[in-house]
Amino acid sequence: MMSESHFDLIVVGAGPGGYVASVRAAQLGLKVACIEKESALGGTCLRVGCIPSKALLESSERYEEVKNHYKVHGIDVLGVELNLDQMMKRKKKIVKTLTTGVAYLFRKNKVKRYEGIGTLLGGGKVQVSQEGKEPQQISADKVLIATGSYAANLPNIEWDDDRIGDSTTALSFPEVPKHLVVIGAGVIGLELGSVWARLGAQVTVLEYMDHAMPGMDRELSDEAVKVFKQQGMDFKFGVKVTGARVEGEGCIVQREGGEDIKCDRVLVSVGRRPNTEGLGLENIGIETDRRGCIPVNEHLQTSVAGVFAIGDVIAGPMLAHKAEEEGVACVEYMVTGYGHVNYDAIPGVVYTHPEIASVGKSEEDLKAAGIPFKKGSFPFKANGRAMALEAKEGFVKLLAHAETDRVLGAHIIGARAGDLIAEIAVSIEFGASSEDIGRSSHAHPTLAEIVKEAALAVDGRAINI
Ligand code: FAD
Ligand code: NAD
Repeated sequence: MMSESHFDLIVVGAGPGGYVASVRAAQLGLKVACIEKESALGGTCLRVGCIPSKALLESSERYEEVKNHYKVHGIDVLGVELNLDQMMKRKKKIVKTLTTGVAYLFRKNKVKRYEGIGTLLGGGKVQVSQEGKEPQQISADKVLIATGSYAANLPNIEWDDDRIGDSTTALSFPEVPKHLVVIGAGVIGLELGSVWARLGAQVTVLEYMDHAMPGMDRELSDEAVKVFKQQGMDFKFGVKVTGARVEGEGCIVQREGGEDIKCDRVLVSVGRRPNTEGLGLENIGIETDRRGCIPVNEHLQTSVAGVFAIGDVIAGPMLAHKAEEEGVACVEYMVTGYGHVNYDAIPGVVYTHPEIASVGKSEEDLKAAGIPFKKGSFPFKANGRAMALEAKEGFVKLLAHAETDRVLGAHIIGARAGDLIAEIAVSIEFGASSEDIGRSSHAHPTLAEIVKEAALAVDGRAINI
């Protein structure tokens, strides 16, 4: 008989990796406990990441649209005003609904929730510590680490979590900054920079590299910067920030070889680091790699038997759906002996306007690997639905193997790119060819037809251009 505090599986962290793994493990019949230090479940993603940022992106996009893009439809709107308090209230309500939804899923699947910091003690034992309470010890046959990540900082940048801070601070600015400096032209910088630019801030993005979103297909990132510049965002590339501090009612940002920049708020978005603090890895002999990630094998198992890890705390793209896939694969492996994640078919989406989405290999990846490929592109402006939507910016680019025609990657900038990319992710999963996509019926008039036309273009036979 199992004691009350002994489980088949203890999951540490209730982000998209940990909570999805907990639910799936319970579905598979395991007795599961999940330890989360925050009172709300759902992790970075639901509390201070994907969900609140998308809520603000949607609201700010609508504000900007109603102000500047309704006239062309024959709709004159007068007296448009921003109500930032209401925008923030809506964001909080969405977060609350979703985080309490995870608590409901735990109850429904009989996942036992522990609130507190989980520290691994070895031998399947984990201590749960919560301020003001006696620590308690629970144990399990297997332990899954899903402790996520935290925002990185740079030397000499003093965060006060008000004027200077990370994405969490920038998700809750009390007013629209007059001048916001964003350090890092990555996903967070572009998404949250867009939010505040649309709401009226002057936004300056400082990036160390000579282009935005390093790692993304270069044609896509160059096109994105062109469009964001047209929208009024200012980009300075090749900039090494050497410090930032609050001074009076504003901030000073220092950079190498250039004048200091005065602004009233600073968002530091230079990447995230795996979160292993307080986890007690030293107690069980797990060493992190040079980036601080927990090393795992193809079954997401660490160097210690019975201890697994998934999500942002291990290597790979820091994405909620990557963490979820790993969570499911990991517990399915524990129970059935099978479980796998296809890292070639994990899409990445930047929820700006227009959206930017990629899956599979970039042109640069294929060239570097010496893989011969064909390319088909099709612009949004030649699609009837895009015209009706007044969404003529952007293109779909499909990359297929030159000999087998197998789809290797796709890169999209344009309206609803994040939804369009799903078809290509599934195509890659199924080992489809570009001809398979080109010969599949796509409803008319839809944006999905742009994907079909790009697939036809691989073979030089797009119809509408
Ligand atoms: P997390 O979500 O970070 O969850 C880990 C949990 O573990 C946290 O709740 C933490 O409190 C808890 N924890 C840590 N240590 C302990 C401990 N010792 N004991 C108990 N609990 C502990 N990804 C996307 O795919 N799409 C997006 O649109 C997107 N937008 C984002 C926007 C922002 C502003 C940010 C910051 C991130 C965004 N991400 C997005 C990334 C996404 O949030 C992460 O990739 C995802 O949350 C990782 O999931 P995880 O389960 O590995 O970790
Ligand atoms: P990022 O890795 O996307 O971008 C960081 C940027 O900062 C890079 O362009 C990098 O070159 C730049 N940089 C690094 N050091 C710098 C310096 N000293 N000065 C100037 N620039 C510097 O990181 P992020 O934007 O902080 O996002 C963190 C993670 O969160 C990402 O891995 C991303 O996957 C995830 N995220 C995903 C989404 C999404 O899927 N839509 C949204 C937000 C965040």
